[in-house]
Amino acid sequence: MTEQRNPYASAVSDYLSRVDNFAIIESTLREGEQFANAFFDTAKKIEIAKALDEFGVEYLELTSPAASEQSRDDCKAICQLGLKAKILTHVRCHMDDARLAVDTGVDGLDVVIGTSSFLRKFSHGKDMDYITQQATEVVNYIKSTGLEVRFSSEDSFRSDLVDLLNIYRTVDKLGVNRVGIADTVGCANPRQVYELVRTLRGVVSCDIECHFHNDTGCAIANAYAALEAGATHIDTSVLGIGERNGITPLGGLCARMYVVGREYIMGKYKLEMLRDIENLVAEAVDIQVPFNNYITGYCAFTHKAGIHAKAILNNPSTYEILKPEDFGMTRYVSIGHRLTGWNAVKNRVQQLGLELSDEQVKHVTAQIKLLADIRPQSLENVDTLLRTFHEKAKHPNSDGFPQLVETQ
Ligand SMILES: [Zn+2]
Repeated sequence: MTEQRNPYASAVSDYLSRVDNFAIIESTLREGEQFANAFFDTAKKIEIAKALDEFGVEYLELTSPAASEQSRDDCKAICQLGLKAKILTHVRCHMDDARLAVDTGVDGLDVVIGTSSFLRKFSHGKDMDYITQQATEVVNYIKSTGLEVRFSSEDSFRSDLVDLLNIYRTVDKLGVNRVGIADTVGCANPRQVYELVRTLRGVVSCDIECHFHNDTGCAIANAYAALEAGATHIDTSVLGIGERNGITPLGGLCARMYVVGREYIMGKYKLEMLRDIENLVAEAVDIQVPFNNYITGYCAFTHKAGIHAKAILNNPSTYEILKPEDFGMTRYVSIGHRLTGWNAVKNRVQQLGLELSDEQVKHVTAQIKLLADIRPQSLENVDTLLRTFHEKAKHPNSDGFPQLVETQ
């Protein structure tokens, strides 16, 4: 069989695309701290930072040292761990905050200021001239310290496009490493994201970071669209935790990008660590990993319908776009239900080391369906039925089949 081209890889026409050349800014220790249940003590922050660093994220973003005394100490402590990931902290576009952040030993500052008419009217009440002047002072200061600097607007999709492009052009000329687009309210859709990032790509020469909230379920799709349009950095958090219902989840983004470039993603991230990292964070913030979570949800690799199970057993790619083994996960074919099929049952028979003919497997499958029409059967029940059937198959009735087996 000839190797087929990956239909999900970027096309030649996607000359702006960075889907196979981007970095993750992991913000569980900043955005994630804004999750309703979150409280990370110093030890937990360090544990999470180390795990994410080992996983391979390029950046860790921490809560502003201006937030509290402890936040500042924690920021310093994480900077002293000597991690491979660069450490950033997220600060308001203000000289006091910037000075405080520089003193913690971080590698860079993510500076943010609200530019939408809502924020200008109802939050800080500043006009664009003031914002530009403030941005210039803060960016110049950070640059003078030699640290990395990103300048981001807040609520970018409800900001005036001309204002937005003007301020980005200004800070780009000042020499920022990145400009940031933030869908702070989760209102953007992938098409709007693509348009805005592509426009911005034509205006600035620095990198472009994107931050997407998930209020309307577009956070992963928007991140993907941003990368297609030339964004270089994506913000994530573990399980997507953050303000309200959070942002682009680390695992979900990995799933999406794996489909585009498996080797690229596997080459830079230890995907088999995802489950442990998610469990670590879920426990720390007292939540369960959702049943339908990307990759690690309990049914993410469970196949149920008989027709799916048959194909999966022949070639997993038929119904799996992600290989569970690449993520340290295992595939499960569910058979104790009325949608089951004899191929799946045959596979279980073989796993149990039982010997039955195809005709016999079809017969016992009919029995499973009969029982499962009353209620779903656990794998234990199914196994008992198969073993008993196998035993009785040695002493068939006049039809050549064992009698219907009684089970719980
Ligand atoms: Zn956010």
